[in-house]
Amino acid sequence: MPGFELFGAQERKEVNEVLGTGILMRYGFEGARKGIWKSRELEAELCRQLGCKYAQLVSSGTTALTTALAVLGIGAGDEVIMPVFTFVASFEAVLSVGAIPVLADVDESLTLSPEAVRQALTPRTKCVMPVHMCGSMADLDPLMEICREHGLILLEDACQSIGASYKGRALGTIGDAGTLSFDFVKTITCAEGGAVLTNDPTLFEKADGYSDHGHDHKGVDRGADLHPFLGTNFRISELHAAVGLAQIRRLNEFLGIQRKNFALVKEALSGVPEISVRAIPDPAGDSCTFLSWFLPSEELMRAAVAELKEQGIAGGNMYWYEHNWHYIRKWDHLRGSSTLNTLNEGQQLGLRDLADTSYPLSDAIMGRCLSTQISLLWTEAQAREKGEKIAAAVKKVLSRSLVK
Ligand SMILES: *Cc1c(COP(=O)(O)O)cnc(C)c1O
Repeated sequence: MPGFELFGAQERKEVNEVLGTGILMRYGFEGARKGIWKSRELEAELCRQLGCKYAQLVSSGTTALTTALAVLGIGAGDEVIMPVFTFVASFEAVLSVGAIPVLADVDESLTLSPEAVRQALTPRTKCVMPVHMCGSMADLDPLMEICREHGLILLEDACQSIGASYKGRALGTIGDAGTLSFDFVKTITCAEGGAVLTNDPTLFEKADGYSDHGHDHKGVDRGADLHPFLGTNFRISELHAAVGLAQIRRLNEFLGIQRKNFALVKEALSGVPEISVRAIPDPAGDSCTFLSWFLPSEELMRAAVAELKEQGIAGGNMYWYEHNWHYIRKWDHLRGSSTLNTLNEGQQLGLRDLADTSYPLSDAIMGRCLSTQISLLWTEAQAREKGEKIAAAVKKVLSRSLVK
């Protein structure tokens, strides 16, 4: 799954070019950098491979989300509808711009349920933020329909799903803006980095300035830049961008391996009729970082997880329902408003509501779900064996439950 599995000579070569000039910053130093602009090259490559007009690199996927929300004009008093299954960064970013995260159920696609979004709408809703979890995609057509109907912004969190697509278009390039992450466990990595994608020139210009203290990047040098609005520092370094550049050139290679290994695991699991796989709105667009699958009940899934542990083969199988990071059940710090600084009034009220909201529909899905991580390093035989061992463990659990 992650690019760190295949880190090597290409990555080192790109980094060494930057080290050769000593210019580690992405802006300025025109003469000294001797024509080396890794961040710019990576941005151009993202646009080329993903088919979007603009990409703004930033320091992480989290700051990409914050930047996107800020340039979309989302702030105090605004509600952002996001799913209960995501990475904590999604609500951290919403809170960081002063907005209110409103959590809505996921469906069997493991992404935002359009029906749940409709129910979560209020006069304060400003943005719908689907999260394309585990390499696959949210069903964007009905979500876009809701946004059109109600005049809302669509922001795609595609941090986990670079290279995946929906009806022929790359995830992250379909909404008003989208975000990517290149952290160490994402499909391609540069240790820490992220990007905001958009086709809107105004949003791009704002993202370019916002992520660099509001600099308009139009002066003869940095000191001469103007600052039409306040920004912050979310810059990426040239060293990180260099690694990212080497990795994005390998994106198609990584996706090819993932898809092949995914198919082998899936085939092995297909021998167990009680196993059903996650709903994928556009199967051809799956980036196949994980194979996510269900058993008929939470009880059976818990037994299967225990059996995998018992056999020492649970590694790489994520039971998100019990995970401290990805599902609302364990987000006590969010539900308890455990912040270090004072939230604005709207946020305080929003989080107070969240503290006693339950999500039985999502619980019923996540409690039965396991995501098997697809490695880039497996041989064909290893991928098949991985699937067969899981299938055998599940069969054992099922036969035990019949005996009971
Ligand atoms: C990883 C991730 C992020 C944040 O990315 P970082 O680069 O780690 O800050 C945001 N959203 C989702 C869904 C993620 O998986």
